[in-house]
Amino acid sequence: MPDDASACLTCGACCAHFRVSFPYLEAAALGLPESDLVPVSPNIVCFSGTQSHPVRCTHLDGTVGQQVSCRIYQQRPHPCREVSPGDDQCRKARAAHGLTWPPS
Ligand code: SF4
Ligand code: SF4
Repeated sequence: MPDDASACLTCGACCAHFRVSFPYLEAAALGLPESDLVPVSPNIVCFSGTQSHPVRCTHLDGTVGQQVSCRIYQQRPHPCREVSPGDDQCRKARAAHGLTWPPS
């Protein structure tokens, strides 16, 4: 979920489609609780809820496609900042949830 994207507030599809993985060192630097992390490899973790299907990040509040928010928005790691509204990843995630781009 990127910054300042009003479309994201009624979406959340990318938080419920992709595995959100990043280095353990990043998690530690951001102060993310270890209880929310699942090991992927010796140095990589992912958010609980994104390691297997059906995917839904444990930090996502609300209903995808209606109204959502991220409980750790200020602490979210780099993969959460890399998807931009309307880019290929966004469209892929939205399509998986039956949502078109641009939002209707
Ligand atoms: S899928 Fe696109 S519109 Fe939806 S939350 Fe992610 S970046 Fe925002
Ligand atoms: S941490 Fe927040 S922005 Fe990142 S996937 Fe989870 S709910 Fe989405």
